[in-house]
Amino acid sequence: MIVLKKESEIAKMRESGRIVAKTMRIVSEAIDPGKTTLLELDAIANRVITESGGIPSFLGYRGFPASACIGVNEVVVHGIPDETVIQDGDIVKLDFGVILDGWHADSAWTFAIGTVPENTKRLLNVTQESLVHGIAKARPGNRVGEISHTVQKYVESNGYGIVRDLVGHGIGRNLHEEPSIPNFGKPKSGPVLKAGMTFCIEPMVNEGTWKVNTLDDGWTVVTADGKLSAHFEHTVAVTQSGPVILTSEVD
Ligand code: MG
Ligand code: MG
Repeated sequence: MIVLKKESEIAKMRESGRIVAKTMRIVSEAIDPGKTTLLELDAIANRVITESGGIPSFLGYRGFPASACIGVNEVVVHGIPDETVIQDGDIVKLDFGVILDGWHADSAWTFAIGTVPENTKRLLNVTQESLVHGIAKARPGNRVGEISHTVQKYVESNGYGIVRDLVGHGIGRNLHEEPSIPNFGKPKSGPVLKAGMTFCIEPMVNEGTWKVNTLDDGWTVVTADGKLSAHFEHTVAVTQSGPVILTSEVD
């Protein structure tokens, strides 16, 4: 069942989204290549979220042991923060959510650290652009498949692989709700979008094959070929006047 949110409820999700975005900025600014570990970033995320009055959505979710999923380079999603030191030339994926007053928001971003090759920058740009194009389709009367198809077409026309094993999701009082928002598919498929729907659009884009593997820790998803992967995600509300991004710091 897809739960439609009232305007007042979307406003609450907007406030949790604001904390997500602020935390994303503060954590990313703390990265000092050659020094900072993934665990340190997780601790900062936890502190900023908590000091802002929120609760980390991911901490304890199905037993996840940290406040943020953090992955480097070939990690696609669900990386568990550890003692890995971030190096110049890495790409770092931060993904976390916040609960405020019972309402979740969830976002992910990929950061290029120091000097990265042009083709890595291109991977990040295409992934971020695919999210922008997908969000533009989040309008009443469209179907979920129009978001999916738009993201897939943009990513594949740029020569990259779009991950299929993991998808975006509805969000609200729960971190994961209906509907699923795949990053691939046919335009005239899936539920019809209505004002009041809130969901996460989150393309995961691989430099090489779209295929992925899960490591023995049961969480960390990596590219099957060891090449790079990028991930961008926003929580979006469908309104009569079009899509509204809830996970940004400024309006
Ligand atoms: Mg996320
Ligand atoms: Mg998500």
